[in-house]
Amino acid sequence: MSDKALDKKLDTLENIDEIDNVTTRRKFKIFTEEEIKLQNDLQTYYRDHFDVNLLWRVIKRENFDTREFGFNRLNAGFTRNKSFEQPAHLKEYMHTFPIIGAYIGSLYKNRLLPKDRYNKAVTIHNAEWLGRELIFDLDLDDYNPVRRCKCEGKDVCEDCWGLMQEAAVIIDDTLIHDFGFKKLEWVYTGGRGYHCWVLDSKTMPLDQNQRTAIVDYMQYIHDPKGLQKVDKIGSFDERMKIRIYEKLARNFIFNETQKFLTENAGFSVNSLKKARQKLESSELLRDIVDAIPNGKEPIFLNTLIKYHYPRIDHKVTIDVRRLIRMPGSIHIRSKNISEYISNPGKFNPINDARNMYDLI
Ligand SMILES: [Zn+2]
Repeated sequence: MSDKALDKKLDTLENIDEIDNVTTRRKFKIFTEEEIKLQNDLQTYYRDHFDVNLLWRVIKRENFDTREFGFNRLNAGFTRNKSFEQPAHLKEYMHTFPIIGAYIGSLYKNRLLPKDRYNKAVTIHNAEWLGRELIFDLDLDDYNPVRRCKCEGKDVCEDCWGLMQEAAVIIDDTLIHDFGFKKLEWVYTGGRGYHCWVLDSKTMPLDQNQRTAIVDYMQYIHDPKGLQKVDKIGSFDERMKIRIYEKLARNFIFNETQKFLTENAGFSVNSLKKARQKLESSELLRDIVDAIPNGKEPIFLNTLIKYHYPRIDHKVTIDVRRLIRMPGSIHIRSKNISEYISNPGKFNPINDARNMYDLI
């Protein structure tokens, strides 16, 4: 693109004042060949394959213009406090710049705008906050200390992705049956996790304390990155306990090794054999509970929770100004598309994820 064409392109964008054309061009010139290819590929994807109308599954079209967006741009760093008057302007922004990360923020009363000659900037710090969907974040990174497959680093296999699937099933069930939420949208992040957007309108005004109370209700591991201390399941957690037995325990008893279960989960070789025999032909809650040796429930639950229970990144849920990856955008490490999924308990990115290079 010539300088003149680039200038023209930039002039059509919103928030033009904050864009330093000279710097942008200079940055374009110092791109490596690899970066130039990536830039072109991303721009092609966002121009030809990114459907801005898919955003209406998580945010509302009618107040789009006062929604915050944030972006990570190749060689230009991170920028937030952006809003767009029209969805077409957002789309144009995304295929004009080399976007390596696109994020959705909260809803504000007014548009967020850079400062101009006459007015000071409107940012998330001086605009009136109106609301935020309730969001849960699951990331396999938080399971690295406890996953028991052979994966290292950022690897994913069927076994460890199973932890994501189990976690999604527990969270989905809890939000629907214990809290009565009805509108849930599950999104594969494009990397190694899920976001769950709770879209019932009553979630929008929830403050940090209210969000903390909701996430605390279903959280038993508060420091997933540190030493894996598991909260005790108290008598007030009866519903959660039943859910853990119903959704996790049977698979745990069958899929973990005899060595692991006898060393960590309260079974003897004999009691494990009996438990497996009984559960071979039954999925009844009563039989699953009965399969745990007498007096061993605390150690059984502690180990089950430690290794298989959802590890929710609660900071994402409670922060009402947090930016969350935009569905439809590209996860830059994997080049996978972050997408809505209908069944997070079955989705498996190894087979099901779509990659930017499948499309362009
Ligand atoms: Zn694995």
